[in-house]
Amino acid sequence: MNSNEHATPSVQQQELAAAGVEYLLPSYVDLHGIPKSKMVPLSHYGRMMGGSELCTGAALEGIPQDVSEEEVASHPDPDSCRVLPWNSKVAWFASDLWCRGEPFSACSRNILKRAVSRAADMGYAMKLGVEAEFFVLQDTPDGGYAPLSARHHLEKPAYDVARLMDNFPWISNLVAAMNKLGWGVYSFDHEDGIGQFEIDFNYFDVLAMADNYVFFRWMANEIARQAGGFATFMPKPYGDRAGSGAHFNVSLADPETGRNLFAADNDPRGCGLSPLGYHFVAGVLRHLPAICAVVAPTVNSYKRLILRGSMSGFTWAPVFRCYGNNNRTNTIRIPLGGGRMELRAADSSCNPYLGSAMVLMAGLEGIAEKLDPGDPHLDNMYLKSPEELAALGIGTLPRSLDEALTAFAADPLSKEVFGPEMYQSWLDYKMQEWTSYANHVGDWEKKRYLKMF
Ligand code: GLU
Ligand code: MG
Repeated sequence: MNSNEHATPSVQQQELAAAGVEYLLPSYVDLHGIPKSKMVPLSHYGRMMGGSELCTGAALEGIPQDVSEEEVASHPDPDSCRVLPWNSKVAWFASDLWCRGEPFSACSRNILKRAVSRAADMGYAMKLGVEAEFFVLQDTPDGGYAPLSARHHLEKPAYDVARLMDNFPWISNLVAAMNKLGWGVYSFDHEDGIGQFEIDFNYFDVLAMADNYVFFRWMANEIARQAGGFATFMPKPYGDRAGSGAHFNVSLADPETGRNLFAADNDPRGCGLSPLGYHFVAGVLRHLPAICAVVAPTVNSYKRLILRGSMSGFTWAPVFRCYGNNNRTNTIRIPLGGGRMELRAADSSCNPYLGSAMVLMAGLEGIAEKLDPGDPHLDNMYLKSPEELAALGIGTLPRSLDEALTAFAADPLSKEVFGPEMYQSWLDYKMQEWTSYANHVGDWEKKRYLKMF
């Protein structure tokens, strides 16, 4: 029998039927980390779990497959199953792509799984928390966009209670949905951009967190749409406002006991980080420019990674290649209490599988080579002059996607993490994205140059 749809339903299938689920989404991602899938009736659960659902890789953005090639098959992870909080007839699975009977090397989830298994070989399990920042906006009749709340402009809307309450109907639905999924939301607020929000919730094993972040972007959009808006994960929708980070909070645990191996009671450097944690930080610092290309992967990402730009205040976004204590002016911050490192370069547009795979492999290299990141920077790094920074040996993060891609291409870690096919495909795709942007003649330059001479 090539179909087991008539076989005894599995426990999970029975549970889904009892919950009223009728359809399944064995979902995988394209290069951007956007979920894609066919929809499968619940009666085909068994076949689907065995990899029956095929797709042409060439139909997905940035996937190294030609139209003539063998299809890729979706292999759902049963542990990732969740009923959509906004539509109880449908359940979603994060899935790995396979090709010709084996894991497809260019699948983002497989790329992360390879890094996770390298960590397991060394005796570590990576934990990841993502601070989800995003804007919820609405389309305006003139073709533009605006916040849902029509209150007057505020110079500093961070933590503004009135604007948070204006958005309560959809944000409380989103938080309830996250908690229904067991994500343990512990706070949410209006952020420093107008119409910008942050929702903070538990950390997870890195693979589960990457699945959750992919799902979160979709879910936030669905719930915002019910309120007549849309969620945007474009890192910098307003040039004169703060952008949206997706800060990665990273630690390594003992896979057996779950003990946090980055925690330290007696850290002579005062950050509450273990020697292992410092080695990891040093590995991430070594590869930061290449990592930047992956965790801040769009043209727009680099309009976020600035000190001030056209803003009145600071952006809170990282600019310099350095680490420090509980001090947001460093790209890597060790938050108060220690036991983790926060990579602030990561933004809301990243593919979380690829981004966390790069971070993990860089950190493991730091551990293997016992690298030392030096002492943490405690000062306001935003206020340092170029001369002071040069004296400290601190460079900047890439200033554009172009610079970041050059760093990615030059760093051997990139190909090691991505595998040769996805490395080339990702780089080609992103270089084209950059070229298309660079060759575009936009409003800013027309306004400036058209009648200048
Ligand atoms: N929105 C800032 C960023 O772009 C971060 C603000 C914060 O520290 O929460 O990274
Ligand atoms: Mg924030």
